[in-house]
Amino acid sequence: MKKIIVKVGDVIVGGEVRAVVQSMCNTSTLDIEGSVRQCVELFEAGAEIIRLTTQGLKEVEALRVIKDQLRNRGVITPLVADVHFSYEVAVAAASVADKVRINPGNFAKDHDVAKREFARLISVCKKSGCALRVGINHGSLGDRIVYKYGDTPQGMVAAAVEWIEMAEENDFDQIIISLKSSNTLVMTKAYRLLYNQMSSRGTLYPLHLGVTEAGNGDEGRIKSAVALSALLKEGIGDTIRVSLTENPVNEIPVALFIANYCKKATTGSENSEINVLPLTDDKGNNKESRRSVIVKDYNTNSYQEFILQASCDLGPLLLDNLVDDVKLNVKISSQPMHSDEILKFRDNLLQATRRKFSKPEYIACPGCGRTLFDLENVFEEVKRRTSHLVGYNIAVMGCIVNGPGEMADADYGYIGEGKNRVSIYRGKEAVYRSVPQEYAIDKLLELIEEDSRNKLFRPRLG
Ligand code: SF4
Repeated sequence: MKKIIVKVGDVIVGGEVRAVVQSMCNTSTLDIEGSVRQCVELFEAGAEIIRLTTQGLKEVEALRVIKDQLRNRGVITPLVADVHFSYEVAVAAASVADKVRINPGNFAKDHDVAKREFARLISVCKKSGCALRVGINHGSLGDRIVYKYGDTPQGMVAAAVEWIEMAEENDFDQIIISLKSSNTLVMTKAYRLLYNQMSSRGTLYPLHLGVTEAGNGDEGRIKSAVALSALLKEGIGDTIRVSLTENPVNEIPVALFIANYCKKATTGSENSEINVLPLTDDKGNNKESRRSVIVKDYNTNSYQEFILQASCDLGPLLLDNLVDDVKLNVKISSQPMHSDEILKFRDNLLQATRRKFSKPEYIACPGCGRTLFDLENVFEEVKRRTSHLVGYNIAVMGCIVNGPGEMADADYGYIGEGKNRVSIYRGKEAVYRSVPQEYAIDKLLELIEEDSRNKLFRPRLG
């Protein structure tokens, strides 16, 4: 089996060391001072690759200045240009960035144009030593792929293989592939399928893993830990991002924990003992003969360490239907954790693994240079005001350019449209456009209530 190593600046992706940890600035790339400051903060927190949104040629030039300023300050972290909808921008960015991320779903509408422009991009990458990420997202597959496969894991894999073949036709192997989804089941299935397909083709390209639009807080951390650990423990994945709708600096300790913990698990130096028992009722009678529960004790140094460790240990078993529930005794620094807190974690874990939905499911992007409003606080407010909508899938997205596509299977969406303006979506349909931000959550709730009264929509997640 040929295993491809990709060089992103001075960072090796695809080697035998633990997964490389990356994040993305949520500053405007045109705000050079703010972006440099955030890159330094991310570097100091331990980010090994940093991505910046690069919408146009002005942002490419800003990226060049940001890179120069960082290098002058001794920060050599590789920078990635995140490019959508413009192969011209991708080509320009390839002589500035250490890696360019393109999304095949919006690189070029016409397949022949895509082939031609991808070849042009590769020729620039070869000259400048720039790597490429073929970043496929569940929510933004191209029309041709969706027509043939639907928006399925198989479609994501077919798109990836098509672009791998195009890179190979151009004699270029410095590519990293990602297949992100906010749905942990879709995401893990897609990566496993692609890994198997690459194995049968005889060449393994590095994979960048991420649960996209994972949200924030415990839920975002648990969702990411569950899906990333399921793959990393199988030896799938070479670089990771934990996407949180928070300050991106918060992503780094979470990602480092997951990468290190899973590396130890694959080398056998972290052996977490797990007991699996039949599921019983309060009197000890078997509830259902074929169902099982994991019983496990934890004593960790912090709450965050507990939720991450338990999600990495138990999440993959729930995700893959190998067990049905968890029963935990938890101590944090030797102090027993309150049973309500343990139950809250259990509910989050069951929801992250899509086994039981006890509250609404949220899709929220992490925000980036395209976000023109206070995404973190708006998301918190949407969560607070929709917490009764169990079984609904609600999206809060930072921009109208990628938001509608990326919210994939959300039932309703709150999508930033520009400064203080919001679009409210039902599925893929924009029902209200240009709503002033101060009324936007009211409008969202009004639409959901009206649909429910008219029996236009029933919650799907149960
Ligand atoms: S959806 Fe969110 S993360 Fe994606 S481009 Fe728009 S603002 Fe940025």
